[in-house]
Amino acid sequence: MCREHGLALTIQRRTILEELAARTDHPTADQIYEAIKDLLKGVSKTTVYRVLETFVSFGIVRKVSNPEAKARFDADTSRHHHATCLHCGLVMDVHDQDLNKLKFPVHIVNGFEFVDYSINFTGLCTHCRTARGNVGPR
Ligand SMILES: [Zn+2]
Ligand SMILES: [Zn+2]
Repeated sequence: MCREHGLALTIQRRTILEELAARTDHPTADQIYEAIKDLLKGVSKTTVYRVLETFVSFGIVRKVSNPEAKARFDADTSRHHHATCLHCGLVMDVHDQDLNKLKFPVHIVNGFEFVDYSINFTGLCTHCRTARGNVGPR
């Protein structure tokens, strides 16, 4: 994928991308760093941040919009949506064909060109609902 985008595939980039692609939890840069620091000797957090930002600028990886200050990264760049737990910060994929068919707003403000969208739902994950004791039929 890197080669397709004209990006040299270094061992650092490969390891970071493989780690991100293998996960579905939309990790932060820090979480990626923790997971790969033993695989890449001497890698720094700064390097991980820089590699992830490079992937984002090349469209290989997306940042997930979420209410937290920390960026979450996603190796799945196809159109899909997310559910963020307000309690623990879990970010889950939401695949819904109906949500993928939304039309862009007709009134384009200030020449803005729409390219894509991703919906972020907020709520409580199963784990946090259980912990709060309010699991039950909706
Ligand atoms: Zn939760
Ligand atoms: Zn996702």
